[in-house]
Amino acid sequence: MMQVAMGSTSWVAAQTMAQNMVNDKEAQAITLGYAVDSTKVDIKKFPRHAPTQKCNNCALFQGKASDAAGGCPLFPGRQVVGMGWCSAYAKKA
Ligand code: SF4
Repeated sequence: MMQVAMGSTSWVAAQTMAQNMVNDKEAQAITLGYAVDSTKVDIKKFPRHAPTQKCNNCALFQGKASDAAGGCPLFPGRQVVGMGWCSAYAKKA
């Protein structure tokens, strides 16, 4: 079992979180048109996109509206950026 030195727990947590974040270059992200910054989505490719649409106001987002990152069932066990977006976006009721 790996020993974690005192004081490095937050570093380990940060690394684990970084590895858990969805990268917009990975296959599932490309398929869904996921972008880590909703304002940079190509509207020629996704004409129904609006910059106000963000993961943290999407019905599928598993975090709170104020969260910087949270889960999404389209990326099981992973985290998407609150300011991100994908083509499966559905406005939270
Ligand atoms: S489904 Fe919603 S929460 Fe999940 S990546 Fe797409 S926009 Fe973000």
